[in-house]
Amino acid sequence: MSKRVTLIRGDGIGPEIMEATLRVIGALDVDIEWDEQQAGAGAFEKLGTPLPEETLASIAETGVALKGPLETPIGAGFRSVNVAIRKHFDLYGNVRPSRAIPGVNTRFSDLDLDLVVIRENTEGAYIGIEHTIPPNRSAAESIILVTRHGSERICKFAFEYARRHNRDKVTLIHKANILKETSGLFLEVGRQVANRYDDIEYDEVIVDAMCMKLVTNPEQYDVIVSTNLFGDILSDLTSGLVGGLGVTPGANIGENCAMFEAVHGTAPDIAGQGKANPTAIMMAAVMMLEHLDYDAEAQRMREATHKVVGRGEEVTGDLGGSASTEEFTDAVLRELGA
Ligand code: NAD
Repeated sequence: MSKRVTLIRGDGIGPEIMEATLRVIGALDVDIEWDEQQAGAGAFEKLGTPLPEETLASIAETGVALKGPLETPIGAGFRSVNVAIRKHFDLYGNVRPSRAIPGVNTRFSDLDLDLVVIRENTEGAYIGIEHTIPPNRSAAESIILVTRHGSERICKFAFEYARRHNRDKVTLIHKANILKETSGLFLEVGRQVANRYDDIEYDEVIVDAMCMKLVTNPEQYDVIVSTNLFGDILSDLTSGLVGGLGVTPGANIGENCAMFEAVHGTAPDIAGQGKANPTAIMMAAVMMLEHLDYDAEAQRMREATHKVVGRGEEVTGDLGGSASTEEFTDAVLRELGA
């Protein structure tokens, strides 16, 4: 039976990298029915809203979305279309794998890294409740919200993710020595959840020490789980270990919905020129295929893409090559034997 997925091509380079991805998925042995919807600046121009009701209704129905980068039009009423989608569907888990691509030269190339940062996406320091205090903005205050429910579901998600992806260890990152109540509650709940997973190793590291350890001995980590702010910072750090944001995918997961995307933005400086690198969105599609239980085909797509990127001959300008988006995609399709 075919699986329905909401497709949002997005703004800027979105349509180009999404077309490339659809060509590659089209060469796999998967049965996906795309429900194409609009969002972002393009939707705003055509339909007067950056996030049409039809788009939300489609994601609610399919439960899975592959989304290109979106430009949030200025003056459209909310901060970011991406944030609005995350809020609407309560996508509480942000998943950012950082996997070394053989052949891509980084400072850590010899380590064959394969880390995943799982970040709580709905609370913590990013709830946006802050204010300044008069006179003359002499001080500013912000609220960090950590709930037992929010901590429980993200920690449980991290352990379930580890099980589902045959990973051995979950490391919880906190700052409970200073933030005794907020980070303390997260740690307390994390320990309780860890006790329920005897098959997965568990450890905990204070966030500042973790930054040091990640740039000295990153190979000792596997799945990393943390609150919103720490997870945000750590996931950029781990992206940097394996080649940067250009090759990094991300997923936002809720109880009933999952949205897969590249971490980068719309790249307006190169949009429409056929120069964009589709690797990150292709890796997001790989995550989506795994989510849909197409594990073997996901693996084929990852290996084919990694081979082309690692060889370095048919890659786009951002990776030091001169290939167009289309030439890169042709090379991936050749790797797949298509
Ligand atoms: P950006 O990621 O779009 O671009 C930063 C730089 O990286 C640019 O030089 C760009 O050319 C390059 N780049 C990014 N992706 C690339 C790719 N796939 N191939 C080759 N080069 C690539 O970041 P920005 O300029 O800060 O943001 C531009 C727009 O994107 C803004 O409107 C922002 O709001 C939006 N944005 C959206 C998302 C999202 O939808 N998830 C994420 C970040 C930014």
